Amino acid sequence: MRIVLSYGLGVDSTAILLRWLTDPASRWFDLRDLVVVTAQTGDEWVETAYLVEQHIYPLLARHGVRTVQVARAGPRQKDGIVVLDDTTHPILCLSSAPGAYRLSEELLSVATVPQSGGIRKCSLKFKGWPLDEFIAGLVGADEYVHVIGYEANEVKRMLKDMPLGLPTRIPSYPLIEWGWTRADCERYVLDRLGVKWPKSACVQCPYAFSLAEGRERTIPRYLANPYEALLGLTMEHLAVAVNPRQGLLAGQQLYDLIVSNPDSGPLLELFERHLDRLPWAIYDVRRAMAAKPGDAMARGQTHRSLELLVEGTRADVLAHLARAAYLLGREVETDGRHHRVWLRTRNLYYPCVEHILTAAPALANDKSYRSFEKAWLAGLNGPAQLALSF
Ligand code: SF4
Repeated sequence: MRIVLSYGLGVDSTAILLRWLTDPASRWFDLRDLVVVTAQTGDEWVETAYLVEQHIYPLLARHGVRTVQVARAGPRQKDGIVVLDDTTHPILCLSSAPGAYRLSEELLSVATVPQSGGIRKCSLKFKGWPLDEFIAGLVGADEYVHVIGYEANEVKRMLKDMPLGLPTRIPSYPLIEWGWTRADCERYVLDRLGVKWPKSACVQCPYAFSLAEGRERTIPRYLANPYEALLGLTMEHLAVAVNPRQGLLAGQQLYDLIVSNPDSGPLLELFERHLDRLPWAIYDVRRAMAAKPGDAMARGQTHRSLELLVEGTRADVLAHLARAAYLLGREVETDGRHHRVWLRTRNLYYPCVEHILTAAPALANDKSYRSFEKAWLAGLNGPAQLALSF
């Protein structure tokens, strides 16, 4: 029977692999039956990929373990997955590779950041789905053991996972069997490899900032890897330009957290130069917010239309925006970093709308869903839309 390990590159699954590869008594199967599968989001920290290449891939290659890396091939499920590597002698951890559709590509194209509340949709789409697709093709209708690196204190997650994929998927949770917590895994990897294994995550992962401990770990990572940090900062800059309520820290901005660090000067200078080099655009952004049924104070579904009006250098675009504001008899609202002109502001009651012209890097695509115009008209004609008039 095949043993399939979902290898997320983090300390938990690294500890499992390391123990299995170095301590045969810890496993019940032959390594020829093991398949190690990683789903690449395209945005993993290079440091993690480098450590995997240095410490784990040589071990897997020595034992001839089949090692597979997969990714989404595009935004829709019908685009399928791409197998980036499938080998018994892995060398490169392809954290970003040609042919793979990256999570950041998707987020930038719609001018947003990963959402930090509720279920992790980005993880389901960019990790869970490609893994499931590959495994389904690998095992067909055969029974297989699916190994997951839940920690000893994650029994609730285990209980939720256990019934999935029955009857052919037989789940296995070695860390829970061994009673290993995250601290045990970190200690084990440190003892064996002499490495304090970093947290595996996308550079722009908002969950890395949700707790004080995560912020303390991630801000130094940003400062130490400024070229990678540009991805998260640029993504947030674009998202906030389009919607001032966005930010990588659950509505607050990562930028503000970085600014407050006394060592942030070189990163912020690099970020400014990076913004200067990008193409810029003025976007016309309209947002229509419905009311929840029977409650005009509660926001229902939001529809958005994003239209790129004019492109140029950063200086050109800011000059265009100032001119537009003058012609429309408005002010340019700015916090020194973002510049926007409000054409309509939202109301306290729903349905309502808001409408801005905003300057930002030209990385997002025009986008509005078919349902937008209907929602826009409903908001515009809502009972209490106190719009600024044209
Ligand atoms: S690491 Fe964070 S951003 Fe990346 S897929 Fe997982 S939850 Fe989303």
